[in-house]
Amino acid sequence: MQHADCLFCKIAEGKIPSKKVFENEHVLAFNDLHPSATHHYLFIHKEHTQNVNDLVETEPSQMAEIFQAIRFVTQREGLDQTGFRVVTNSGPHAGQTVFHTHFHVLGGEPLRGFGSR
Ligand code: 5GP
Ligand code: ZN
Repeated sequence: MQHADCLFCKIAEGKIPSKKVFENEHVLAFNDLHPSATHHYLFIHKEHTQNVNDLVETEPSQMAEIFQAIRFVTQREGLDQTGFRVVTNSGPHAGQTVFHTHFHVLGGEPLRGFGSR
């Protein structure tokens, strides 16, 4: 089910434009509006869930569908050769700002250390 006031549901429905890098029946990937690396993609399932725990509880096979898409795109872009990072933020301490489950995929250059304060 889609959420009327959800930004990424609107992107999935094409109501808000995005630069798509992958799409199939269930999964969409598009460029992050404010990239943190040369390649910065957001992977979402078209069915709305709030965060990764909600997604796994709702339908765990969505996880595999998303990661199959990540595999396809990172191989197509050669990021599997140079390296890439997958990140999902859940809740306030992680700084989640869009409450439709999404996976950041970053690469194309050496990435800075992760998780430091
Ligand atoms: P979060 O902070 O929730 O992990 O990630 C949300 C991401 O969505 C941010 O990296 C932000 O740049 C991106 N973003 C926010 N609004 C838009 C938008 O309208 N279009 C696109 N393509 N990305 C967006
Ligand atoms: Zn949504």
